Amino acid sequence: MTSVFDDLVGQEHIIDTLKSAVTASRTVAESQEMTHAWVFTGPPGSGRSSAAVAFAQALICPDQGCGTCNECFSAASGGHPDVEIIRTEGLSIKVEEIRELLTRVAWAPSMGGWRVVVMEDADRLTESAANALLKAIEEPGTRTVWLLCAPTLHDVLPTIRSRCRHLQLRTPSIDAVKDVLINRDKISPAMADFAARVSQGHIGRAKHLATNESARSNRKVIMQLPLQLGSLAAALQAAQTLVDIATEEANSSSEARDEKEIERLQEAYGKGATGRGMATGAAKAVKELEKEQKSRATRMVRDSIDGALLDLASFYRDVMMVQCGNPGSTINADMHEQIDECAGTSSSTSIINKINVTIAARKVLALNAAPLVTCEALMCQLARK
Ligand SMILES: [Zn+2]
Repeated sequence: MTSVFDDLVGQEHIIDTLKSAVTASRTVAESQEMTHAWVFTGPPGSGRSSAAVAFAQALICPDQGCGTCNECFSAASGGHPDVEIIRTEGLSIKVEEIRELLTRVAWAPSMGGWRVVVMEDADRLTESAANALLKAIEEPGTRTVWLLCAPTLHDVLPTIRSRCRHLQLRTPSIDAVKDVLINRDKISPAMADFAARVSQGHIGRAKHLATNESARSNRKVIMQLPLQLGSLAAALQAAQTLVDIATEEANSSSEARDEKEIERLQEAYGKGATGRGMATGAAKAVKELEKEQKSRATRMVRDSIDGALLDLASFYRDVMMVQCGNPGSTINADMHEQIDECAGTSSSTSIINKINVTIAARKVLALNAAPLVTCEALMCQLARK
């Protein structure tokens, strides 16, 4: 029999825990002991929100998460009345959103089972939002289960995390990602191998790369940048190229979605409605939405730059592997000539330094530093011998 847990790549160590929680949740006596708040942590791409959604499905499915019934489908698509999936596109989750959520989930589950809330980005709760949530987690409705997701435990307020059961996801192995791409997404073995390798265990990124030619050609341009840092002017140009590509990637995926969202909103208000209250209400809502979209676009550009920096780091990591006499574990197998050359002409100290400055740039970027300036500073450092 299929199970929603089958899709959790490389996470066998938590599946037993989830399954036994689901089994226990079925019996009245044991459901008293049901843990009402869980936190799923794991590196980006490990599938923490997929794990939380699978758990939500299993809790409300009559067959404990068959993955094929109506309950399972509607839970995953956000259409189930007892399952709330909170996805944030903006930079933060505000207290108003949490208050509104709390009024929605205060009711008993409509189907008589559990009411499950999956919060995909619990690390983006503002402090006041987290405090509002804390109250609900401290005194949960007896049939409400909270599933929070965050990169690490430190991203969740200590008062909240101390009340949650913690499950730590792992970065799936390259082979596990490759198998999923081949079996689930029907991607050719050679392409799956390449995408799994260069994505370093990030399933979403691997799939995007394997199925998207422009993403592959953009990546190629990024990977050439370390070889083009001969002068200060070239380094600044490389930074500009990196930011341009990342911005274009982010924009191309958000523009179509932005337009659709605005259209849908206008339809909800009755497009072309002439009533005065109607028109002002719609204009205000569109303005709000545009603000949200702008903050989402900012975040997507940052995520995209972060991915590019991770790619750059993988180049220097490969150079270091060759210098250590371990060329077999190369991530960027298609660049072995350039990697060998760089390994022969640079000292290992300088390569380690390049990896460190790239990681440092990712950190300051995560703290909202200006993207272009950060990349310029990085490229100038990478240009040093
Ligand atoms: Zn089902």
